[in-house]
Amino acid sequence: MKIAVLKEAAGETRSAATPETVKKFAALGAEVAVEKGTGADASIADSDFEEAGAKVGSRKDALKGAGVILCVNGPDPVSLAGAEADALLVGALDPIRRRERVEGYATAGLQALAMEWMPRITRAQSMDILSSQSNLAGYKAVIDAAAAYGRAFPMMMTAAGTISPTKLFVMGVGVAGLQAIATAKRLGAQVSATDVRSATREQIQSLGAKPIFVENVAGIEGEGAGGYATEMSPEYQKAQAELVSGHIAKQDIVITTALIPGRSAPRLISDSQVATMRPGSVIVDLAAEAGGNVEGTVSGQQVEKHGVTIIGASNLARSLAADSSALFARNLYNFLSAFWDKEQGGPALPDDDEIVKAIRLTQSGKIVNERLTPA
Ligand code: NAD
Repeated sequence: MKIAVLKEAAGETRSAATPETVKKFAALGAEVAVEKGTGADASIADSDFEEAGAKVGSRKDALKGAGVILCVNGPDPVSLAGAEADALLVGALDPIRRRERVEGYATAGLQALAMEWMPRITRAQSMDILSSQSNLAGYKAVIDAAAAYGRAFPMMMTAAGTISPTKLFVMGVGVAGLQAIATAKRLGAQVSATDVRSATREQIQSLGAKPIFVENVAGIEGEGAGGYATEMSPEYQKAQAELVSGHIAKQDIVITTALIPGRSAPRLISDSQVATMRPGSVIVDLAAEAGGNVEGTVSGQQVEKHGVTIIGASNLARSLAADSSALFARNLYNFLSAFWDKEQGGPALPDDDEIVKAIRLTQSGKIVNERLTPA
């Protein structure tokens, strides 16, 4: 089995394979061909790939005879000319927003597999690109907030007097939020956090942060379906807005991460609430690409409102390219190796497997995923 690894388009720093995963694929009996320059932004030289046993060359050479094509973002189908029909295309394919590309993969006869649609089941945890990248984004959000903030995080008692600790509030305690809490605690901030899912209360406490929850209206019991939140009732939203109003004016830094699958991000902070924060405060909105949790957020930009810096964070994992590539590449390896058929010498994807059903978008020239086909 030959595996091709594509160099990403400009703006993407991550790589879908690393020398480590090249060696692991070789141990399975696969041959890996990496497009020249693939790892450049993730501090991986072509020679590093070669030392790990990969062939490095043009995209055309990499694609020729490859049964598996690895990418971070789904490429323009036109750029895949020469790929073998029925090759697996594995990566973050963004199927809803990039439907026309998915159609192109079908036309090319490729079997497109969208890794972001990995089901949230125990067996798939090590294959979950959303978790591996969100974790790094949560960390980086705190680092970026600290860099934009004109004060120190920890309490410092010095001969010149005492500096009080930064108060940091995390809204949305999923994978990114948990890592943001842990990172802010390590830096010495006083951390509080909120979520709509009741299971997060204990998680917040276990990290030594203070849970701030709506008490008078019921939130989502436990983890929520598949670990995901849904849109909350108007009554809950009102209670949450009151809670936030009371809390936010006392905060120096707010990190928001709240997302609802398939919908735009819930609005958690209004412009008038931003105005109650002390000038110099910083908000990092990790939901910026999904419309933002904060009124006034601009995705990919840093804006100032009422003296408060609002960072519209977009794809922060990209700014930690070496680590995000390492984890992303392992997610892809963990997926393919779990389905590796030794006799066939490649991945075998059973039609009735829960993972395969969830992530397979196209097969035999057609779109086959029920999330993309009319009910
Ligand atoms: P996410 O990115 O979809 O959302 C981020 C957080 O925002 C969630 O915790 C959500 O509850 C919260 N949120 C949504 N609306 C909100 C609102 N109005 N106010 C406040 N918070 C709001 O979530 P995620 O980070 O992908 O993960 C959520 C959960 O799924 C976690 O508990 C995680 O452990 C679990 N998970 C399980 C697996 C697995 O079992 N394979 C994989 C990944 C995640």
